Amino acid sequence: MDLLAVVALVLVGVTAVPYLCFLALYAWLRPTGSPVDKRSWEPTVSIVLPTYNEADIVETKLDDLLAVDYPKEKIELVVVDSSTDDTLKRIRECFEGLDVPELVLLEEDERRGLAPALNDAYKAASNDVVVKTDCDSKLSPDALREAVANLADDDVAAVTGQNVEVLGGSEVESGYRSVQSHIQQLESHLDSTLIFHGPFSAFENDAIIPIDPNSLADDTELALKIRRNGKRVIFDPAVHYMEASHSAFRKRRKQKDRRGMGLIRLLVQHRDALGKYGKYGKIVLPFNWWFMIVSPWLVAVSLIITTGAAVSLFGVGGVAFPTLVGAFAYLGQNDCLGPFQAFYSIFDTQVSLFRASVELLRGKGDGTWEVDAELREAFE
Ligand code: GDP
Ligand code: MN
Repeated sequence: MDLLAVVALVLVGVTAVPYLCFLALYAWLRPTGSPVDKRSWEPTVSIVLPTYNEADIVETKLDDLLAVDYPKEKIELVVVDSSTDDTLKRIRECFEGLDVPELVLLEEDERRGLAPALNDAYKAASNDVVVKTDCDSKLSPDALREAVANLADDDVAAVTGQNVEVLGGSEVESGYRSVQSHIQQLESHLDSTLIFHGPFSAFENDAIIPIDPNSLADDTELALKIRRNGKRVIFDPAVHYMEASHSAFRKRRKQKDRRGMGLIRLLVQHRDALGKYGKYGKIVLPFNWWFMIVSPWLVAVSLIITTGAAVSLFGVGGVAFPTLVGAFAYLGQNDCLGPFQAFYSIFDTQVSLFRASVELLRGKGDGTWEVDAELREAFE
């Protein structure tokens, strides 16, 4: 057989093995729901909301927060704002005449980036539990109760939730989210999960530690640091939120590439955690290293070599292979792949992670970005 074809087969095989191992572990453990015994209690909660030019949607967000099922006198809302538009004015209007929840407004003189803003907000938050939420998201009314029930467990200091409805209807995103939810349940049942989600992350206040001012993965960074300090950080699929997303290839790249850069940089910064902290460092972190750092390069090289092998085996007919991949990407981004949509979603994520690695190698990735106006239309 052609040497290129052998190399291509080996590469595809090597890329697949860790995924198959993880799948086998999943099939063996069959993790479902939260990994801990939840207990209902009512600690005081600080809800942290960072805003940068969200005037169009901030009222919707506040209405949504005021509708959570939780005693309002036990809630404090900490807003940290660096807007140049009417965001602050809108927030003040919403709170006019309201005694509860208490409002703490931190006004920044200029935009410094999300991570420094959050560090200030976390310092100002005075309640037992701190919930961080993004302006462009909605929470299920019971999200807070479900989340704090996990924190009743003494070993757990942070919990994140599940995107149950992708606003705007992107099937690329919902396909990926359903795969991710299974991965995060397995990770949480083994020990702790890596990724914490911007629309909903809850932390015990006394476990919070400052994050890197340049961080592009603020919630995940905080969770990782808390895990390194000894407490578990878990994913509970019963904690529901909603966020908007695109399907189109080009539109997805900006946000997803940036998020990928944040995660890859974080893993590399904390490479010394590999192998430590029980199954977190022995299974969860290595799997994420594989998925986010190694596998995207293997996928890219496999595509090139398989194309080479196809051409050397079948001549011009071999071009059918890259054409098929192109058709797969075209149908995938138009949400037309039906049962195979989830495979495209993973491929899409690998594309972002590959591009993110390249950008990081080129020295890109500071702490501010253009807020996606189109995604906010779903909330107006
Ligand atoms: P994405 O969801 O990862 O694309 O991030 P977003 O652009 O939606 O930002 C997440 C949240 O942080 C939103 O509520 C933004 O308004 C807010 N935000 C983004 N950048 C800044 C910033 O520089 N300062 C402050 N205070 N908030 C920010
Ligand atoms: Mn967002």
